Amino acid sequence: MQKFKKVAVVTGSNKGIGFAIVKSLARKFNGIVYLTARNESLGIKAVKNLQDEGISVNFHQLDIEDSHSIERFSHYLKEKYDGLDVLINNAAIAYHHRENDFTPEIDQVINTIRVNFSSTLNLCNALFPLLRPNARVVNVSSRAGFLSNIKDQNLIDRILSKKFSIEESIQLMDEYIQLAKSGQHKNLTSNCYAMSKIGLNLLTEAQQILFDNDERKNIVVNSCTPGYCATDMTSYTGPLTPEEGAKTPVFLALLPENYDSFKGKFWADEQC
Ligand code: NDP
Repeated sequence: MQKFKKVAVVTGSNKGIGFAIVKSLARKFNGIVYLTARNESLGIKAVKNLQDEGISVNFHQLDIEDSHSIERFSHYLKEKYDGLDVLINNAAIAYHHRENDFTPEIDQVINTIRVNFSSTLNLCNALFPLLRPNARVVNVSSRAGFLSNIKDQNLIDRILSKKFSIEESIQLMDEYIQLAKSGQHKNLTSNCYAMSKIGLNLLTEAQQILFDNDERKNIVVNSCTPGYCATDMTSYTGPLTPEEGAKTPVFLALLPENYDSFKGKFWADEQC
């Protein structure tokens, strides 16, 4: 067992911003970086592309929607390193930039909330027990998750009235899916991607409260936007490169051990 090596994991990193995060982290992180992908051959190809540039990273298959895949990976990390120091939750999906996609609205809602919120939470639940003191977790979110994207004042008031627990965040996502079944969800937000990222930001705050009360000292989680980037997700409409998008997630992953400032917060351009 390689217990004392620092280990970083990036989800959904065979392409796009996740791939750029791995590339940057591999240069800056004093430890082993895991590029993970749901599709094994795409992941291995991505690792090979980095090797061709002289950058060495490890690969492991990880589909955050698949409980068996999560279980296999967490077991592997436990056996091999007995710990984890950086987790970047980058994997996500979005339908709103896709032309000629005829996925029914209700399926878009269910799939988006499942991947971007529920599966991210499931992975956290599996990997958080492995986090070591001073670990850093980054939830890659979006400005779409700003409360200004909520149309319903009652929901804004509800979110502002108190800190949401993890259970309350789950409940909000469930309520949204129920509304979508009767077509009323658009009264809350313009699209389900926004709602999934609102949920992720609420989750981030709730996760930090748990870390603040954890006997493992100084574990920090933040959420952030990479900014609007040219990737498959945006059909290459964003003005930023994936490398530019990787900057804030990598900055948050490498917050120093003596860091004692903003935690559980949303960041953009390396600022909170
Ligand atoms: P891409 O669509 O280019 O990449 C998404 C990655 O997530 C892919 O590797 C994809 O794998 C992976 N993924 C999707 N579902 C799963 C799953 N179930 N398990 C594991 N991996 C999965 O997106 P971006 O690089 O643009 O986005 C990265 C992050 O940045 C996302 O969280 C996104 O919401 C956020 N973001 C992006 C912005 C942008 O302008 N691009 C703006 C704001 C936020 P596969 O290749 O197999 O599909």
